[in-house]
Amino acid sequence: DMPAVVIKNVSFNYSSQTKRPALDNVSLQIAPGSFVGIVGHTGSGKSTLVSLIDGLGRPTSGQIQVGDVVVDAQSSATDLAKLRHHVGYVFQFPEQQLFAETIGQDIAFGPTNLGWSADRVQAAVSDALRMVDLPAEFAKRSPFALSGGQMRRVAIAGVLAMHPAILILDEPTAGLDAAVTHRLMANIAKLHVAGTTILLITHQMDQVAQYADQVVVMNQGRLVKSASPREIFADPAFLMANHLNVPPAVAISHRLRDAGLAIAPAMSIDA
Ligand code: ADP
Repeated sequence: DMPAVVIKNVSFNYSSQTKRPALDNVSLQIAPGSFVGIVGHTGSGKSTLVSLIDGLGRPTSGQIQVGDVVVDAQSSATDLAKLRHHVGYVFQFPEQQLFAETIGQDIAFGPTNLGWSADRVQAAVSDALRMVDLPAEFAKRSPFALSGGQMRRVAIAGVLAMHPAILILDEPTAGLDAAVTHRLMANIAKLHVAGTTILLITHQMDQVAQYADQVVVMNQGRLVKSASPREIFADPAFLMANHLNVPPAVAISHRLRDAGLAIAPAMSIDA
């Protein structure tokens, strides 16, 4: 099976950047159907990495392959746009980008731009609402009358409606309360089980412990480790050196889960 994503020796400099590069010789492979946690200190390069996977820029050097599309420093805008056909990117605080008069129109925007028929778009909108636990009748309402958590879910539905093979989520639960966080993560897990490759940027190590099968650790633009959560969480000195705060309860329940001793949900530290 072809890997979903192959990143080869990718470096990236923002044009205004004078110090070290945002990405420094990063190489990484992601198998189709993986659930990848991308972690690291603020400014370590996580967002830059996923934005290149979504074709939002060209690597300064190196190459990125997503499905059957390969891009490098010389790629055209058309080639970059081809990457985006495989990828859905839920930005941080995506609710800030809601714009349409109704929730239905907002979610339909992406699929309509893909050139889908009206029927197919309607079906995609209904499916997407269901996937984020919102009632179908919400389609006719204004997105701006919703709670913050509901707005977040509408924005995520707008990306899901395009049925991306690879779904990138940048801190999707930031600012949400424990109950909404739990349900949103459960829905993301459902998509993963259905075959979607998930790339989750998070500072919540409990989410990594519970859902990820691969953890990518970034530090100052470098990829310092790509390994299983078991391996990452086993080394307290490594965690500390990379500013990864793993609450003891998470570390312990993760070890119990590894040992086959955890029953019911692996983690219940919603507080
Ligand atoms: P993270 O997502 O891990 O917080 P980023 O990918 O946003 O990290 O940032 C990586 C580095 O690139 C940081 O040093 C950051 O200051 C820099 N950077 C990010 N965006 C820009 C930009 N638009 N222009 C210049 N530098 C940027």
